[in-house]
Amino acid sequence: MNTLEDSLIRFMDAGFPIIYIDTFEESKAVKYVQSAACGREIMEWSVTGFCDYATNSVCPDWPLADTLRFLISDAKSCHRRVLVLTDCHSYLSDPTITALLKLLAQKIVNGLDDFNIVIVSPVVVIPPELEKFMSILSMDYLSQSEIQQVVNDFCDEQEIDRLSPQFLDELSMALKGLTEFEIFNMLAMALTDDGEITSSDLDLIIEQKQQLIRKSGILEMISVKEDLSNIGGLENLKKWLQRKGKIFKNIVQAEKYGVDIPKGVLIAGMPGCGKSLNAKAAAKLFNVPLLRMDMGRLMGKYVGESEANMRKAIKLAEAISPCVLWIDELEKAFAGVGGSSGASDVTTRLFGTFLTWLQEKESLAFVVATANDIAKMPPELLRKGRFDEIFYVGLPKKQERKKIFEIHIQKRRPKDLSDINLDELANKTDGYSGADIEGVVKDSVEEAFAIGKKQISTKDICDAIKNTHSLSEIMKDSLKEMNKIYEDRKFKNASE
Ligand code: ATP
Repeated sequence: MNTLEDSLIRFMDAGFPIIYIDTFEESKAVKYVQSAACGREIMEWSVTGFCDYATNSVCPDWPLADTLRFLISDAKSCHRRVLVLTDCHSYLSDPTITALLKLLAQKIVNGLDDFNIVIVSPVVVIPPELEKFMSILSMDYLSQSEIQQVVNDFCDEQEIDRLSPQFLDELSMALKGLTEFEIFNMLAMALTDDGEITSSDLDLIIEQKQQLIRKSGILEMISVKEDLSNIGGLENLKKWLQRKGKIFKNIVQAEKYGVDIPKGVLIAGMPGCGKSLNAKAAAKLFNVPLLRMDMGRLMGKYVGESEANMRKAIKLAEAISPCVLWIDELEKAFAGVGGSSGASDVTTRLFGTFLTWLQEKESLAFVVATANDIAKMPPELLRKGRFDEIFYVGLPKKQERKKIFEIHIQKRRPKDLSDINLDELANKTDGYSGADIEGVVKDSVEEAFAIGKKQISTKDICDAIKNTHSLSEIMKDSLKEMNKIYEDRKFKNASE
């Protein structure tokens, strides 16, 4: 049995008054409700009106408020029934609707016979007055073998040959995290151009999937071009990632050997020194999609909405896994944990959800959390066992600066590189971040082009250095403070 159906049966049996199913797949969810109702009849309200399937009575255009009033006043019509509400999340901010739902929920709690309300919606809205009556369930994503079944069904329906096992594996990986409906649409789209589904359709499918995930508003799927060779220095961190990559790519053998599933890494430190670059390069190295979690977007305005969004994001990441889940600016997400304001209550609960997940995580969603200011971070997060490792990224040393110059000149003016004195540039940029160095290279290339030079020289870059204020100049005091915190807490240095 499906786990949603299983939970529905348990929640209904236990007399939970309002069960909220958070899903985009409405019709599939309604089917689960029907089968979990174990013979009880369904009544359904949607924008098109009210329908009682037991008596086949249909009241087109009946407003939700009238439906609820009718059920409150007529206990008999609720006997051994399940009321399914679809299209209703926007009505949940209406005080009349919430008051009526509360009244009906109270009646259920006080013994209204064998009756439950099930709300099916892609958006979780929990009005405070209904919080204690509502329980949220979410629909499971399709497993890889279920996706393969959908693809096979599609091929049969379209009367085309089934795909080779190898391509089916590849395609089903690319379709992970999508609903059955979305998968059907994608396959139909792939089929229309040339009447076949082939590996040449994969790019289009991935592009469409990125858009769908962005639209869901909780995660973003990012295309990655950068790999470890785009990172100058940070050798300790790169070596560590390479080791995890080996485990990640050979997880079955590694687990058999006794190796733990990699959880993730926290990379903290100076702005513009390659933290995000490492998150991207990790995804490339592991050869998996990169998902970015934007904490600002997770925060909802209703009680419980932020946690529901967090759970949704985690579930989606797990459905897409193996993947890298990049949580940017982690300190901003959890600043205020444990404080006394209402807002900090939300972050504290959100933090709890995240921490429990991180602790118990068994999926191949490898977390790369990045943070600028570790002083603001709750100490629980920094305890051993949460992340596999915590790295500190400082300002690049001379050899690292040399390499960063080389990478950015190579990228823009490869032919000029051999004539450039990288040692001189590195000597002149003590206290500059990787982003500062990239900025210097960009400025000198732009200037050389503007004045019509055929190639850029060491002097051009030195001139650009003179015109750039380094990170250490701009952040003199806070850098010292930050360095002390990292040293005191004995985090691993990302550089050798
Ligand atoms: P922030 O905390 O401000 O987000 P960050 O540490 O995540 O900063 P990145 O976004 O990784 O910094 O780096 C900014 C830019 O600087 C990158 O696009 C990259 O081109 C350049 N850069 C930074 N560090 C390095 C490095 N070690 N090697 C090569 N390029 C670097």
